[in-house]
Amino acid sequence: MKLHKTRLAPTPSGYLHLGNVISFLITVSLAKKHGAKILLRIDDLDQKRVRSEYIQDIFDTLEFLEIPYDEGPRDSKEFLKDYSQVHRIPIYKDIIYELIDKNLIFSCDCSRKTLLNKHPKKWYTGTCLHRNIPLWKSQTSLRLKTEKNASVDLNTYSKGQKSYILPRAMDFFMVQKKDRFASYQLASMADDMNFGINLIVRGMDLLPSTIAQVYLSNQLDDNKFIHSTFHHHLLIKKEGKKLSKSIGSYSISQMRKAGMKKESIYQLAGKYLNLKSTVSNLEEFSSLFLSSIPQSSK
Ligand SMILES: [Zn+2]
Repeated sequence: MKLHKTRLAPTPSGYLHLGNVISFLITVSLAKKHGAKILLRIDDLDQKRVRSEYIQDIFDTLEFLEIPYDEGPRDSKEFLKDYSQVHRIPIYKDIIYELIDKNLIFSCDCSRKTLLNKHPKKWYTGTCLHRNIPLWKSQTSLRLKTEKNASVDLNTYSKGQKSYILPRAMDFFMVQKKDRFASYQLASMADDMNFGINLIVRGMDLLPSTIAQVYLSNQLDDNKFIHSTFHHHLLIKKEGKKLSKSIGSYSISQMRKAGMKKESIYQLAGKYLNLKSTVSNLEEFSSLFLSSIPQSSK
């Protein structure tokens, strides 16, 4: 299938770090190879964690590294006016109503403490599944009635169609949070469908999310998500620590303040991906990266 649109989808809850940039560079490289358009989508639905300086940092970093995109906001002002996820709340609500109509939703009032008491990793054990808590009661979240060990098929970029089991951590995953905003899983899937995205590039840490989102989309009448192709790239580790978590020491804005040039950040990205030789710009990165990644013939 033709890959016609992909997206860069940072969350403005911290300064961008090298892990984000590597994900952007992989996305842009694959888009170039397939002639896919690139959308900049900034996931700001988790309003409590969003800060204006983090939004600005996304634009500054993309400009500094000359990472191109075809669609989406050009600055913070345009983002807030036209592209914030807040404008798409009705789209998320429609999906929630469809799931309610299909009797696929239940209400949950578990606190973090309750979740932790039931499971050391806060995996949901179905505590409220049969409690019949009214759906719109205050301080409740909405969860999906997932099937145990459901099988989910994904189109992967490198290995074609693959079957996965819905991870245990995603049992009864949330579709609406206690603050009444859609959950990440629902909003991200809805946005990708709404913008016509069919190539989704993410870190391997988001594979369980992808499986949950495809599972969710399979419950909907209009499921464009299932035609997407997914590429989950390896996460970059340093000193045993996942890079994307070590925000403080690796934020791009800090690297810039320390005097690092664009070329050095490209070099670092190439080094973490074990590219064969040193790269100092997007063209060099793309050409070496693309020769390192297999593509499924399907
Ligand atoms: Zn509960």
